[in-house]
Amino acid sequence: MTADCLFCAIVAGDIPADVVHRDADAVAFRDIDPKAPVHVLVIPTVHAATAAELAEQDPALAGRLLAVAGDVARAEGVSDSGYRIVTNTGADAGQSVHHVHFHVLGGRGLTWPPG
Ligand code: AMP
Repeated sequence: MTADCLFCAIVAGDIPADVVHRDADAVAFRDIDPKAPVHVLVIPTVHAATAAELAEQDPALAGRLLAVAGDVARAEGVSDSGYRIVTNTGADAGQSVHHVHFHVLGGRGLTWPPG
């Protein structure tokens, strides 16, 4: 756990979240400001700032988070209709929380490329 990290506080249960999945490696919860009918964030229970950092730190865990994202999509009913997994890195991508998170977006047509 890293002090002053919002998502570490969600993992610890110190800040409430609408959790849809939790295990030893990962927590998935609904985004507070959803951009699609399904908008869930999948995060590791350990702190890493970015996807690249996590993949260097623990490649198996990075893969496991993608599997959890797939499980979430299935549970949310969008695996057949389609969904997008997004991870923003750094300022130009608009990363606002520096604890790696995979957005799982679906439930409507998603434009490409995103704005
Ligand atoms: P990003 O801009 O890629 O770093 O994504 C951060 C996401 O976290 C945004 O989509 C926010 O709406 C979301 N978010 C921020 N605070 C919370 C919170 N307390 N609970 C759930 N989602 C949050």
